[in-house]
Order: sequence, then structure tokens, then C-alpha cells
Amino acid sequence: MPRTRESAMSTETIVVLGAGAVGVCTAFQLARDGHAVTLIDRLEPGGGCSRGNAGLIQSASVVPVATPGTLAAVPRMLLDPDQPLFVRWRHLPTLAPYLLRFLLAARPAQVEASSRALATIVPHAYEAWRPVLAAAGAADLVRPAGELHVYETDAARRGADFAMATRRARGVEVRELTVAELAELEPALAPIFRHAVYLPAAHQTADPFVVVGAVAQAFAAAGGRILRAAATDLRFVEGRPTAVVTEAGDVPFDRLVIALGAHSKPWARRLGSPVPLDAERGYHLMLPEPGVSLNTAVVSGDFKFAMTRLAGGLRLAGTAELATVDAAPDERRARRLLPLARRLLPGLDGRGAVPWMGPRPSLPDSLPVISRSPHHPSVVFAFGHGHSGLSLAALTGAAVADLVAGRPPAHDLAPFDIRRFDRRLRAARPTASGSFAP
Ligand SMILES: Cc1cc2nc3c(=O)[nH]c(=O)nc-3n(C[C@H](O)[C@H](O)[C@H](O)COP(=O)(O)OP(=O)(O)OC[C@H]3O[C@@H](n4cnc5c(N)ncnc54)[C@H](O)[C@@H]3O)c2cc1C
Repeated sequence: MPRTRESAMSTETIVVLGAGAVGVCTAFQLARDGHAVTLIDRLEPGGGCSRGNAGLIQSASVVPVATPGTLAAVPRMLLDPDQPLFVRWRHLPTLAPYLLRFLLAARPAQVEASSRALATIVPHAYEAWRPVLAAAGAADLVRPAGELHVYETDAARRGADFAMATRRARGVEVRELTVAELAELEPALAPIFRHAVYLPAAHQTADPFVVVGAVAQAFAAAGGRILRAAATDLRFVEGRPTAVVTEAGDVPFDRLVIALGAHSKPWARRLGSPVPLDAERGYHLMLPEPGVSLNTAVVSGDFKFAMTRLAGGLRLAGTAELATVDAAPDERRARRLLPLARRLLPGLDGRGAVPWMGPRPSLPDSLPVISRSPHHPSVVFAFGHGHSGLSLAALTGAAVADLVAGRPPAHDLAPFDIRRFDRRLRAARPTASGSFAP
């Protein structure tokens, strides 16, 4: 929750670079703290990866992407483009450092550490959104829905054992459903499933782009400035960053927040903090008139994609393709989702289907960076939210506002500190609180 104006230490001129879900929520909460905030993006707010995600605020996503089974899946990831996680060969040399770290992150101790860290923030995702939605007049754009994971085969259900056990270990509610209970909950699904698991802790937005747009409007109404321009560089005076160079001119700041999603890597490097951030590109296919309806967000455990009901139709969303951030989309990956979805939902109408691709900002350990810069006290990083950027946007915005105001953050930010990627600085990381003196 924005612990608002009263508690802000002082008002400053702040630039938030990147108007995705994370940047918009951050700018909004900083503006509510009384700062003079400029939000810069080359697209309209929410126009990047935040535009086409599945629209879920997931409070049960406490399992990192790399898990102990990942190593065994690597050959298929490289050879079979139908795999949910696929690496484009051509990009392999560029992606090799990421992939290596990703495999190291699949070691049991790291998986346990990531999961424990996620469990300190993810269950609070919706709680953090609630006041932001209320302040933006957008509460009616979000409804409780739950995630329903369905499995046609015993093998697919067994494949989810680790993830479900991890969720349970972190205190997340996981309900096994009988076939009869499944039919009652989602009558439109084909009777082909042997197993179903329901995770109640998920909320569905009517459309993530609309929700982010509503928060951006509230930001503007609170006095925030939105500048639509590409940022190209930073200006430094005596080693200190002082302005963002944009195609519309320089924008000076007292403080800077880097919230450029999958594009944050060169900016972090420029500020002295290299990060192994890469794009795990996801696809969706939007069906404007699907002819069938769902009550929950349905996730195919066999084919690893989600079907979510949005205001504009049914969204088939999923796949993770590792390629460089600006590589052209491969539309076939989105279109492949339709025959799979038809298997689950007989009678699904695919007319007018629209494909889309967005670059998830992914770090190998599946933990976002929510952190002060160790080199520049005026800079805060907020990126790398991977599969959970919509879910964690409001919580991240509140945490950044706390860091800027010098308030103790509501959650321990130590696991999300950018210094985890720097061997020399790792030893100096705080353990109890992410807030350390500039
Ligand atoms: C298919 C799919 C389904 C998903 N489903 C979910 C879900 O249900 N729930 C969930 O929580 N997450 C989901 N995600 C993940 C989520 O979408 C991302 O984590 C989130 O959008 C990241 O938000 P962001 O603000 O960090 O990045 P972005 O939304 O990408 O914002 C970054 C912004 O920076 C701007 N930018 C970059 N470079 C420049 C520059 N030089 N100058 C100016 N502007 C610049 C871009 O234009 C962009 O608007 C999904 C992702 C995909 C792909």
C-alpha cells in the first residue's frame, strides 16, 4: 500500500524509466508520496510485455522456473519447437551465459532459496494491488478466479508433483479435485482429464493493458507526467547520473528508477551493475468470440499454456522462447496454441484470432531485482519479474517508494538485491533489510 505523502521524507524530481506494469505502479506510488515524477516510455503505458500477458495476479507462484528436472529437459528444449521452453539455435551464443546460470539455478539448494524468497512476497501480490486498484477506480477490473491445472495423463500430473509440493511447503493452498468436481467447476472442458488441481489464490484482470492504463491515468491525475519518447542514454556529471537522454531532449532527475523490463540489462550495465537478464518470450492468441466460457484460469499441465477469460475474449497464453530481446516474433508459436486449446475446449471458435508476443524480463533465479544501485545512491532498479510482473507490480511499486522515502520496506528485500550478481559485492549484502544507507 502506498504509505503516502505524510510519511515521505522529502519531495524529489524522479524519473521512472519504463511504463510497463512495474514502472506505472512505481510512478503512481511515488507520485502519491508527493514526488514530481516523470514516467518515460517509447510506447503508451502498458504497451510492452505488460500488454498481452494472461492477466493473472497470481499469489501462488512461489516456484522458480528452473527446478531440479530442468537439466533432463535441455535436449528437448534445444531440438523441439513444440516444447513450452524452447531455445532458438541462432541465439544460442548470446544466450549461453544466461542458460548456464539457469541450469545452475536448477540445483536443489538454489531452487529452495528462490522459492523461499518468492514466498515472502508473492502471497502478498493481490493485497498490494487492492489499494492501487481502489485509488485508480479500477477495482471492478479484477475478480477472484483461481487457477485450475488440468492433466490428461498420470505422467503429466506426476511432472507437477515437485511444483505442487513446493507450493504446499510454502503454505499455498493446493486443492486436488475429483473428476466430478472438475466437471462441476468447468463444465465447458472436454471430459479427458484424469487429474485436476485448483489453486484459489489467483485473481483475473479484465485486461492487463486496461488495468495498467487505469493506473497510468490515476498517476497523471495525481500530477505525474508521462513522456512518450525513446530513452537513449544517461548523462553523468562527475560520475553521478543526472539526466536521461531521450529523443525528446534531456530529462534531469534527482532520482532514477530503472523499470525497463527485458530491456533493462544495458542500463544496469551502464550504471555499473551487469545482470544476467534475458528475454523469455511468451506468446498469446486472442480469440475475440470463443463461443465457450470459463470460470477459472485453466492451465494445461500437459501442454503448459493457460486459457484466461478477459473482457475481449479468451486468451490462450504461454510458451517461453529464449531468444534475444529484439528478435522478430515467430507467430507460429502463438498459432500452435489453437489446436491444443480445441482439444481442451471442444467447440472453441478460433475465428479472428490475433497473435501477440511479449518479452518476459527473466533472471535465471526467477527472482526480480528490487534494489538500490550499489554504485549510485540516486538509482533504484525494479525489473526482472519474469512470469510474475503483473502480479508483483503493485508490491514492487510500494517497495521502491519505501526505498526512496527511506522507510523500512514492508518485505525483506535482501533476496532481490542486485548485488547477488556481483561476486565482489555479494559479501556486503544486507541480510535483514534491503534498505541500506546510500
Ligand atoms: C504470454 C505471457 C503471459 C504472462 N502472464 C502473466 C500473468 O498472468 N501474470 C503475471 O503476473 N505475469 C505474466 N506474465 C509476465 C508479465 O507480463 C511480465 O513480467 C511483465 O509484463 C513485466 O512488466 P515490466 O513493467 O517489468 O516490463 P514491460 O511491460 O515490458 O515494460 C517495460 C517498458 O520499457 C519500455 N522501454 C524499453 N526500452 C525503452 C527505451 N529505450 N526507451 C523508452 N522505453 C523503453 C518498453 O516500451 C516497455 O513498455 C506473462 C508474460 C507473457 C509473455
